[in-house]
Amino acid sequence: MTDQGLAMRLHGVGDLRCAAEPRPVPGDGMSLVRVTAVGICGSDLHWFSHGGIGDAQLRQPVVPGHEFAGVVEGGPLHGRRVAVDPAIPCTRCEHCRAGHGNLCPQVRFAGHGELDGALREWIAWPTELLHPLPDGLSDADGAMLEPLGVAIHAVGLGHLRLGGSVAVVGCGPIGLLLVQLARVAGATRVLAVDRLEHRVAAARRYGADQAMLDTGADVLDGADVDVAFEVAGNDDAVRTSVRAARPGGRVVLVGIPDEDQTTFPAGPARRKGLTLALSRRMHEVYPRAIDLVRSGRIDVGSLVTHRFTLLDSAEAFQTAAGRAGLKVLITS
Ligand SMILES: [Zn+2]
Ligand SMILES: [Zn+2]
Repeated sequence: MTDQGLAMRLHGVGDLRCAAEPRPVPGDGMSLVRVTAVGICGSDLHWFSHGGIGDAQLRQPVVPGHEFAGVVEGGPLHGRRVAVDPAIPCTRCEHCRAGHGNLCPQVRFAGHGELDGALREWIAWPTELLHPLPDGLSDADGAMLEPLGVAIHAVGLGHLRLGGSVAVVGCGPIGLLLVQLARVAGATRVLAVDRLEHRVAAARRYGADQAMLDTGADVLDGADVDVAFEVAGNDDAVRTSVRAARPGGRVVLVGIPDEDQTTFPAGPARRKGLTLALSRRMHEVYPRAIDLVRSGRIDVGSLVTHRFTLLDSAEAFQTAAGRAGLKVLITS
């Protein structure tokens, strides 16, 4: 084994460069992981296409990638295949101690700011954030647990009741996982909309009772759902979600807008007395995500439509940005 590994670093908009870098040395409480699968996420595309996300901007070249799995080299989990929780909360602040590590003001996140992510051969990560994968889950499944975790957290914020109704506005991978989760959580009416035909078809395959092409703000008018999940990250989808919710219903905003601004139609939101919930990543959902996949209740594997090698990362990002398939994965 050499003590170097390849890493893909984002230097600016659309500027992803590959270089051999020293293999990271795990510090106290950390383990070395050989990365085997990394998913490209909509948030990575914000960095790739715009050089930033919300009010955070690229200040130094960073290794992207926060949806990942790998094999542990050395330490207490040596040889185990693991999914990696990409968020490192401080564990000491009042939010962390109250069990809301996802809201920690000091949280560090893979591929964000100064913390390099997983688009490289080796990464060192806190051992307690490594979740061993059972035999039934592939490494690709392991990488998909992060978007599944985001979807599980959003369902929690939706306070979905048995026999309830749901709208999913935006059917990328997280939206499609929400369609599946809504059914598992006991929803009896699941509506889904997207602007792309192949995603509408996918929503139908994953169990939406009605999946429609998003033809404008009124596409879900009168749907009167208990919970609308906005998973597109644009104001049109927010408007559609607000108009889809029933009086007293909830709208959960999961999407990340391009500009650091979200607007919603105040009239219908006020008249219906809606509760708007803003979803922030997730907390402590990996064990549940693993059980949902292992038990066959949630299918993450078929969401992966494209695979590339690490060296073809730039092409992988272009493919993901083109939104031709569902999830683009980089595997070794
Ligand atoms: Zn993501
Ligand atoms: Zn904290």
